[in-house]
Amino acid sequence: MVTGIGLFSGGLDSILAVRILQEQNLHIEVISFVTPFFGPETAEKSVKQLKVPLHLIDITGTHLEMLKNPRHGYGNNMNPCIDCHALMFRHAGLFMEKTGADFLFSGEVLGERPMSQNMNSLKIVARESGFEDFIIRPLSARLLPVTEPEKQGIVAREKLLDIRGRSRKPQIELARRFGITCYPNPAGGCLLTDSSFSNRLRDLLNSKDKKSKRDFELLSVGRHLRISDAVKIIVGRNEKENEKILSLSEEEDIIITIEEIPGPVVLIPCSAEDEVVKFAASICVQYSDAQADELVPVSVFHDNRMVKIHASEYPRQLLNQYAV
Ligand code: SF4
Repeated sequence: MVTGIGLFSGGLDSILAVRILQEQNLHIEVISFVTPFFGPETAEKSVKQLKVPLHLIDITGTHLEMLKNPRHGYGNNMNPCIDCHALMFRHAGLFMEKTGADFLFSGEVLGERPMSQNMNSLKIVARESGFEDFIIRPLSARLLPVTEPEKQGIVAREKLLDIRGRSRKPQIELARRFGITCYPNPAGGCLLTDSSFSNRLRDLLNSKDKKSKRDFELLSVGRHLRISDAVKIIVGRNEKENEKILSLSEEEDIIITIEEIPGPVVLIPCSAEDEVVKFAASICVQYSDAQADELVPVSVFHDNRMVKIHASEYPRQLLNQYAV
């Protein structure tokens, strides 16, 4: 049985790549990758209509390492798409070797994205993955160099396509022919392409903060206020974010809450001087239901201990200077 392993985002191009290969009666399995910046939700939804096994692989460790200094730089925001694709194919290639599969594929389309899917970028991605000869892009394959599975005749090149460019018309027509009616909007899915998120990520990478997996996970939660190179304060904006912040907190963190009136969870993701704790307490009061100028008892949790201090609100208009 000839088996192909696909990178599968769950977007239309990746759905079509699977369907094109299924037309050749090949056995297809797909992989969706997990990091703090993108997850498998779209893939899990889309895969149901294809009846192929979906494997989830968490690549957080190697992705974070790459993200700090991507060899081919970033796109419009903090999206290092060329390095990211090469890394995904590298992981997929290791999976192919482990499972004895025969080739890799993706839904990439030549020229669809000017920076990361031009001819040169596609070649770089394939070469740097370490599995260059085994990567097929079924939607554009006839415009690309012949791969090993095509040479061996286990994948029929003449049944692959020659789609090029940014127009989505050929893909939409193909979807219609395959009877695919349910597919997500092409935009979205990766936080690294979001400009606000990218600002926070840049701030984290340039700071003296720890840079563990959870520090990256915290980037998508709450308000972030940069106090100094080494200190950031994170403020929950609603109940869900308060819970998320608590679930991501670690032993050395400082957590500030108000028990008597509704208010946010405030996190200082490191130990901090008393002055910073008092400042964070006044921010906690600012975003609570306290009256203006009210002196409020605030609970500060650190090192398995809780102390009460009193704070009044910090003026909101002065907080903008710290916002990330
Ligand atoms: S959009 Fe995000 S997930 Fe996709 S290749 Fe670029 S960095 Fe990677």
